[in-house]
Amino acid sequence: MIDPRLLEKKNVAYEEHDPSYGAVYIYEAKLASIRSKYQKIEVLQTKNHGKILLIDDFMMLTEDSEFIYHEMMVHVPLASHPLAKRILVIGGGDGGVVRELLKYPRLQRIVLVEIDEEVIKICRQFFPEMSCSLSDPRVEVIIGDGVEYVRDAKEGFDVLIIDSTDPFGVAELLISPEFYQACRTLLAEEGLLMQQVASPFFTPDIFVKAFHNMRKAFSFASPVLVPAPFYVSSDWSLGLASGSDRFFKKEIPEGYWNPIPGLKYYNPDVHRASFALPNFVQELWDRSLQSPEFAR
Ligand code: SAM
Repeated sequence: MIDPRLLEKKNVAYEEHDPSYGAVYIYEAKLASIRSKYQKIEVLQTKNHGKILLIDDFMMLTEDSEFIYHEMMVHVPLASHPLAKRILVIGGGDGGVVRELLKYPRLQRIVLVEIDEEVIKICRQFFPEMSCSLSDPRVEVIIGDGVEYVRDAKEGFDVLIIDSTDPFGVAELLISPEFYQACRTLLAEEGLLMQQVASPFFTPDIFVKAFHNMRKAFSFASPVLVPAPFYVSSDWSLGLASGSDRFFKKEIPEGYWNPIPGLKYYNPDVHRASFALPNFVQELWDRSLQSPEFAR
């Protein structure tokens, strides 16, 4: 029986996470709704959280909270790797990750590989404060599959950020052993990989599979926990990995990083805390080392 209060509301979007749990977004206007070659893309105007971007009914970002996820995706690796100059971003068509990257004058080249050009077009129209970053002269936008790009890449990078949708459909191979091996090849020995790995609570199998395959390619890896308010259950995991421990930093020493002015979430204390694992996540992490069934 649906609560009559919900039925009274006119514009309601439902995000189902499992047969027993979902999220409801109540919006004032649907600003865009298109179906691209790959996915359904919608932009809703809400009263309390600004505009929100949904892909296949899943929340990608809200204007008022996107800073949390995007700052952690970028400043954890960039604060750890002071020599990084060349960055590859897979996905990230909304421009939020690139906006944070551009806060580092030392970066010389940012390549963004986004499979769905319609996402970029919609975000240019409705989220200009993020997507304007894609027009920066240091940025090259390539429309294509990140799996293929990494496999065929002819140039190396210092940091690889995988800001994709959850690993289903077009994103499924972004947690495959072959993909991580290709990432390892493309990154300099001391390079860093940073990837969004979804919710350890709601999708533990994805968590275990991603880290099982990541750890096969990278000697150093760890979950990085981020409370992303609108991602299911808000206990969201990123993953940091490297072939070397030189820039694989779970803690940023005093004076090691020149703080970027104006950040609203990231700081060295938050960096350190994001590597602390609750027991149930530690158990999933331990399982990721032993799960041969994910070896395929
Ligand atoms: N922050 C969001 C999250 O955590 O779910 C992701 C935001 S961004 C909009 C996700 C992007 O990944 C989408 O635009 C999607 O088209 C892109 N994507 C998914 N699979 C991809 C692939 N194989 N290669 C390149 N881009 C991909």
